[in-house]
Amino acid sequence: MIKEIFTENGIMITEEQEEMLQLYYEILVEWNVKMNLTAITEYKDVILKHFLDSALILKSEYFINRKHASVLDIGTGAGFPGIVLAILCPQYTFTLVDSLMKRIEFLHIIKKELKLNHVSLYHGRAEDLGHQIEFRNQFDFVVSRAVAELPVLLEYSIPFVKEQGYFVSYKGKRCNEEVEISHRALEKLSAEIVEVEEYSLAKECRFLIFIKNLSITDVRYPRKAGKVKKKPLY
Ligand code: SAM
Repeated sequence: MIKEIFTENGIMITEEQEEMLQLYYEILVEWNVKMNLTAITEYKDVILKHFLDSALILKSEYFINRKHASVLDIGTGAGFPGIVLAILCPQYTFTLVDSLMKRIEFLHIIKKELKLNHVSLYHGRAEDLGHQIEFRNQFDFVVSRAVAELPVLLEYSIPFVKEQGYFVSYKGKRCNEEVEISHRALEKLSAEIVEVEEYSLAKECRFLIFIKNLSITDVRYPRKAGKVKKKPLY
């Protein structure tokens, strides 16, 4: 069923990748009983709303057809989109970050069971990790889904992106409104929106905003934890 749904939606996957996604689903619903990982648990819903949604970036010319890329997922939660992309892009390296230790513990189980040796996991807040030299302006792509509204998310994410690399924000129907209030944040962080790609998924509109980092980020950003959210760069 997974391969069928992906193929119908224009994303080709191998049988091995289908098996890995299946195992991911089984471990996700098993652990969801013990820890709060996702409200979506019905098989088809998880395939569509978590797995396929996470994979939409594979339709984009910006992301595919590279020999290698380093990808960071901020606020990955139960691994969306990071784990799905790690399964589907074994030639890239993935770093997944979340501020909740329980989620990172769950992801260590997934990493071990699915043998995802190209995935690294870190517990921490984007506002703190973004100032560490080993993370700062280091990634070809930063991705993030359902973590914060765009102005806040830009300040979390852009400091991790290499010069000329991309931050890709997964957004739903409020996409345009969020873009409208992001001009100042984009200016302060020296970044620009290069494309907004629209997809339809289970009758819902999904958007991927591709934002290019134009230069090394000003050391003032991200501001301290709490301040970014309380006083976004509107
Ligand atoms: N990205 C996943 C998804 O699409 O299902 C999880 C979304 S969940 C609503 C938001 C996640 O972001 C949570 O796991 C939370 O712990 C994490 N988070 C929120 N603020 C964060 C921050 N400042 N730094 C790192 N992680 C953060």
